[in-house]
Amino acid sequence: MFVRFVGFVSERVPRWLYRVSLMMKPQVVFVLGGPGAGKGTQCSKIIENYNYTHLSAGDLLRAEKAREGSECGQLIAKYFKEGKIVPAEITIDLLKRAMEETMKKDEKKFRFLIDGFPRNEDNHQGWNSVMDGKADVKFVLFFDCTNEVCIDRCLERGKSSGRPDDNRESLPKRIQTFLQSTRPIIDLYQTQGKVRTVDASRSVDEVFTDVKTILDKEG
Ligand code: ADP
Ligand code: AMP
Repeated sequence: MFVRFVGFVSERVPRWLYRVSLMMKPQVVFVLGGPGAGKGTQCSKIIENYNYTHLSAGDLLRAEKAREGSECGQLIAKYFKEGKIVPAEITIDLLKRAMEETMKKDEKKFRFLIDGFPRNEDNHQGWNSVMDGKADVKFVLFFDCTNEVCIDRCLERGKSSGRPDDNRESLPKRIQTFLQSTRPIIDLYQTQGKVRTVDASRSVDEVFTDVKTILDKEG
């Protein structure tokens, strides 16, 4: 718990001048897996059953891309189209602001599922330098499945999602980006004993049964 004392304790100072604010540090679970592994699907089920707020890096970037007057909208669009990872400062700034706004509205909402982040070394380093001491990373929830499952699910999703990156041209690049850039980050957290892996190739409910076991154990 992060305890901040505003003011100081002295016998001469009237009681009303003491203001002690108790604020929890954000408690973060990073949610990772290949494109279409089911991160968003499982996060939706988690927030229905547990006291977490879901922040999807991809959704925050898509919203920023669509926001009128956004300075980085065009840049984000270019990275998306190429299946590449957007520069860390943009994504971290969006995540940080979303966490602050959530906690400002309700300070009991300090548990976050950060979905699709950190996706590469740049994200990982950026998070460590900007968020060091400001948030606790509890663990990484890793949805593990084959590239074929990822591709099939994204192509299926693409029929109705309208996402310009759920197509045969972008998908191999996204899979390659996942394998080259994100897998090493998962491996890094694994060396710290911080990865909880779920076999994501099964049905939504079967996957969620495993997720619940992990969350019930981790608190
Ligand atoms: P991600 O957030 O990892 O990109 P989504 O949660 O959006 O993935 O899932 C991608 C697609 O696969 C969606 O159309 C979703 O309905 C479907 N899907 C998700 N999980 C499963 C599952 N366990 N079995 C079958 N289809 C799934
Ligand atoms: P997603 O919705 O998680 O599949 O993400 C879609 C796209 O958003 C990716 O292909 C990336 O271009 C971009 N993106 C998502 N998360 C991140 C992130 N953490 N850092 C940078 N770019 C990201």
